[in-house]
Amino acid sequence: MSNFKLYDREFLQFSNRLGNDPLQVQGAGGNTSIKNENYMWVKASGKELSDSISDNIFVPVNINLIRDSVSTDNNQDIMKAVMDKNIKLRPSIETTFHACLNWSIVAHTHSVSTLVHAISEKGIKIAKEKLNDMPLSVIKYIKPGIDLTKEIMDNLNPKTQVFILKNHGLICCGNSVKEVSNLIRKVELRLKMPIIRKINQLFESENIPNYKLCPESWIAFDDHTIDIVSSGSYYPDHVVFLGPKISFEPTRASPVFLKKRIGIFIKSKASKTQKSMLQCLSNILLRLPLDWVPEPIGEKAEAELLDWDAEKYRKSLSNE
Ligand SMILES: [Zn+2]
Repeated sequence: MSNFKLYDREFLQFSNRLGNDPLQVQGAGGNTSIKNENYMWVKASGKELSDSISDNIFVPVNINLIRDSVSTDNNQDIMKAVMDKNIKLRPSIETTFHACLNWSIVAHTHSVSTLVHAISEKGIKIAKEKLNDMPLSVIKYIKPGIDLTKEIMDNLNPKTQVFILKNHGLICCGNSVKEVSNLIRKVELRLKMPIIRKINQLFESENIPNYKLCPESWIAFDDHTIDIVSSGSYYPDHVVFLGPKISFEPTRASPVFLKKRIGIFIKSKASKTQKSMLQCLSNILLRLPLDWVPEPIGEKAEAELLDWDAEKYRKSLSNE
């Protein structure tokens, strides 16, 4: 019997709510944590926030051990920080910033409205204006993990509660579930973007063995969106689950490819998370203003994500 049971119903319901909203998190992305003075519960890698109530998806970790590993830059095995040795789940890749942020509740999402802003310079500038009365910090793109955590810690003050991570997502922190939930709602309201593209084509079906035509196929009928998706990738989870830029023919690097004026095809065996990542891309593009020029994370950043054992683990857990 575990001594570290997580009973906080309000926190679990909050996490579950975020997990059930595809405009907040997609598949195994996004994570929440709750801490007391001794330890922190954080979402396990590869688990989905939508399972917060029905499954045990949180792992108790020693906060000080994780903070030490960040301050000494010692990328030690994160499993050493897990306090209940009966738990075999691995804490989220993003555990380090949860531990370092000195708030009892931390929620990190891949919010679509945040991402619409966070992938271009113009969007970032406008987001700063929209949130100018909030305790905000904007963090440049860095691979998730210890390096991103350090960048966050170098760019906050004791009052910072909202972080926009460029080409990545949103973090909101506070000392109660209610406070964080209200912060997220406020940010979402301010950053909400209208859908500006139409998806009223009737997609012609072409039979390609082992692939299925995707509901996001509208992207293949718009020269601007074709150009965007085939030029690069714009945030880490896209790379991890769908590979780098979307190509015009099947490749081993990605479960999806695009045929101009026909549609986007995804492997019949694609996982739920892979499908939700494509939905995320579509949700962003539907709202992206024409004059906000999205900046890809670049091939070097893509390679860093694809060669990373921690991400391979997360991906393998989502293969269902
Ligand atoms: Zn993230």
